[in-house]
Amino acid sequence: MSPGDVARLAAQGLSDREIGDALGCSSRTVLRHRVRHGIPSRWVAPLPEHGSRARYVSGCSCAACRRANNAHTREYVASAQRLTAAAPRYAQPWTPDEDAQLLSARSVAATALALGRTYVACRVRRAKLLAAAKEAPTT
Ligand SMILES: [Zn+2]
Repeated sequence: MSPGDVARLAAQGLSDREIGDALGCSSRTVLRHRVRHGIPSRWVAPLPEHGSRARYVSGCSCAACRRANNAHTREYVASAQRLTAAAPRYAQPWTPDEDAQLLSARSVAATALALGRTYVACRVRRAKLLAAAKEAPTT
């Protein structure tokens, strides 16, 4: 493999993996050659299909992509509602006992289930408690 081979194939728009396949080496080896010899990659990742949320996120707002994104958003909201419905202590004030349990060694997910709180709420509360403890050490 010569730097010229890599440069020629890269200029054609081949990915490092495709270049490696053509030259009989790994994509990591191709990458190493490109970095060492300053050969830019001309490969551009293909866009996701229309009618997918991924394509919507990448900037397309055609009807099919908007439909896919709307479906995703509906599912996301429904999922969040299921989670809060399963968390009877949702939006209730935190108690000192809950704070102590959050700081215990048990996993956040297990604590959230035990407390009847959402996982996200417990993650956020625990981070706040840890930050406060770091700011004002009680020892
Ligand atoms: Zn589209």
